Amino acid sequence: MIRFNVVEKAFQTKPMEVSVPSCRPSEYFGKYVFNREKMFKYLPSTVYAKLVDAMDHGAALDRATADEVAAGMKRWASELGATHYTHWFQPLTEGTAEKHDAFVEHDGKGGMMEEFSGKLLVQQEPDASSFPNGGIRNTFEARGYSAWDPSSPVFVVDDTLCIPTVFIAYTGESLDYKAPLLKALSAVDKAAVAVCHYFDNNVKKVTAFLGWEQEYFLVDEGLYAARPDLLLTGRTLMGHEASKNQQLEDHYFGAIPTRVAAFMKDLEIQALELGIPVKTRHNEVAPNQFELAPIYEECNLAVDHNMLVMSLMRKVARAHGFRVLLHEKPFKGVNGSGKHNNWSLGTDTGVLLMAPGKTTEENLRFVTFVVNTLMAVYRHNGLLKASIMSATNAHRLGANEAPPAIISSFLGSQLSKVLDHIEENANEDLVSLGGKQGMKLDIPQIPELLIDNTDRNRTSPFAFTGNRFEFRAVGSEANCASAMIALNTAVAEQLVIFKNEVDALIEKGEPKVSALLQVLRKYIKESKPIRFDGNGYSDEWKEEAMKRGLDCETSCPIIFDNYLKPESVAMFEATGVMTRKELEARNEVKWETYTKKIQIEARVLGDLVMNHIVPVAISYQTKLIDNVFKMKSLFAAEEAEKLSAGNVAIIKEISERTAYIKEHVDAMVEARKVANKIASEREKAIAYHDNIAPMLELIRYHIDKLELIVDDQMWTLPKYRELLFIR
Ligand code: ADP
Ligand code: MG
Repeated sequence: MIRFNVVEKAFQTKPMEVSVPSCRPSEYFGKYVFNREKMFKYLPSTVYAKLVDAMDHGAALDRATADEVAAGMKRWASELGATHYTHWFQPLTEGTAEKHDAFVEHDGKGGMMEEFSGKLLVQQEPDASSFPNGGIRNTFEARGYSAWDPSSPVFVVDDTLCIPTVFIAYTGESLDYKAPLLKALSAVDKAAVAVCHYFDNNVKKVTAFLGWEQEYFLVDEGLYAARPDLLLTGRTLMGHEASKNQQLEDHYFGAIPTRVAAFMKDLEIQALELGIPVKTRHNEVAPNQFELAPIYEECNLAVDHNMLVMSLMRKVARAHGFRVLLHEKPFKGVNGSGKHNNWSLGTDTGVLLMAPGKTTEENLRFVTFVVNTLMAVYRHNGLLKASIMSATNAHRLGANEAPPAIISSFLGSQLSKVLDHIEENANEDLVSLGGKQGMKLDIPQIPELLIDNTDRNRTSPFAFTGNRFEFRAVGSEANCASAMIALNTAVAEQLVIFKNEVDALIEKGEPKVSALLQVLRKYIKESKPIRFDGNGYSDEWKEEAMKRGLDCETSCPIIFDNYLKPESVAMFEATGVMTRKELEARNEVKWETYTKKIQIEARVLGDLVMNHIVPVAISYQTKLIDNVFKMKSLFAAEEAEKLSAGNVAIIKEISERTAYIKEHVDAMVEARKVANKIASEREKAIAYHDNIAPMLELIRYHIDKLELIVDDQMWTLPKYRELLFIR
């Protein structure tokens, strides 16, 4: 009866009352963040100036200044009720990690005093061996440290002051996402500033921006608890499609159910208080699927904010009797969740480099950055795919709903025309761009290029959308940093190569504009294979992409190989973002994580089969057998046989399906035993991908068929129609 109790309760749960702050969002925005306004208030002015210099220009802080910063922070945090502090970091687990310490120390007189020194702010030593590190540190020499990242402000959650940090091994290798991300952002800053100087010598800094769009599902907490597969793996390993799901397309942008609206309201208030500029919320395509998006921010901060939002979502959902599902594919046959990464570059002079400008020169600059981005994506398309690949996101990629497992870029007709024009007009030294009405080519001085925003292609994994590129293949559960490290590093490397080529021409006496155009023209031709405006889901595209030489691999563990290709290692090393050793270690972690995820799913499925599915199917079958026997005592043999034919067929089907299931669960255990003996993490992951993952699907097929024939009263697990349509 558990299932019926939880379903009944889920249907009756009322929306929770949300206490809305009495002031306006602009007033409570950043309430729990030690932002510049608070730094100014809580720090002596000389300390404030030094800290701002550290934040904006990476200047080092001396010990005395760090002590004063720590004291100011502690005073502010204590006023908000904080009693503890933690170094908040992003290990390779996709989540965040924190170890809380109280602000107390012995006072030397037998008592305690409250303390928080600069030393504690700047550095801590969590046990590195307990986090995935791909063998960089084994358990015997387990020392890594976390170090404060002053470019992302500290914040208070509950009673704890959270300090964003990088996590590094004592030997210097990065053990997290933030350290290489900061290096990638610094590389793209440096390379882009140099290229900006062709157009404007006043540019001193280029910032990468990120605006993520987070998709997620909500399910009722009671129903969730009755689904061990959701609880342990984040997705349903079985479950037949509901008769109605998204075919009427009535959920997308539909009215938000009141219970969900209360959750969203609460989440938004708490996010704003943490300084996360959330702006957009709406229903997504699938039932019970939603999206949340903030206004874009500097990339490192945006990544931190996304990590924070994901943990906030989990917490707030529980308060509302929900569980949030961040898995990329919680339900088969229903749309999965992604996290579009809107990415662009902007200068400290206020220019968005991926946005068309008003003058010819501005548009030449725009084309320069767009074409170099295309080149970077073209040259490293396999790596970019690897950067978003995971055991969970693999369910989404390649299925007919999400970006396909081939990276290509959609530019839209207007921008494509501009690039074609440049490519074809080899003798012109001015770029001619379109007017307000659209594109009029061959007009040298044009006020503004309007990119038609309706000219969109939902199937493209890397689409140009007016003033930015939108990397859509990122998984909903992933740390955006992985994609952002690969993309920013690739663009940084590309801009350096571009600058070298242009400078070489200028040195030979070529005028600047024509040197720029010559190299751009060459790149436009070279990067053509990455441009694709058609339907990314079609089979023709797969064939075409193969011919174009794009990476078409679909096996997750093999896609990870892209990180270790010579051109990837060269790119990461030349830009100073990661060494070969770090890349190798990270791939070990990726393969190991892949294996573990499939292994857990296989175990959970095995348990559910033996404890839920087979016993329920057999009891129902026994009831039917009983009925068939009793029919014989009621009716003449021939008639009884006729009347029982339907039930006999079901009895037979149950036997066949349970036998198949049992046999394959046993075979899966054997396959796991074989795979587990493989020493190489890569080979083991491949074995799990090739031999075990497909079995999950085969077994599931029969379970889902049983769900359709077994008595609903006896079925213990909440069904899709209940999980997906609870309000
Ligand atoms: P969509 O129509 O794809 O849902 P939105 O207009 O809602 O897109 O914007 C999606 C995200 O893109 C938001 O986070 C927004 O702030 C961000 N965004 C807008 N312009 C830029 C830009 N130039 N660089 C990076 N992100 C941007
Ligand atoms: Mg979008």
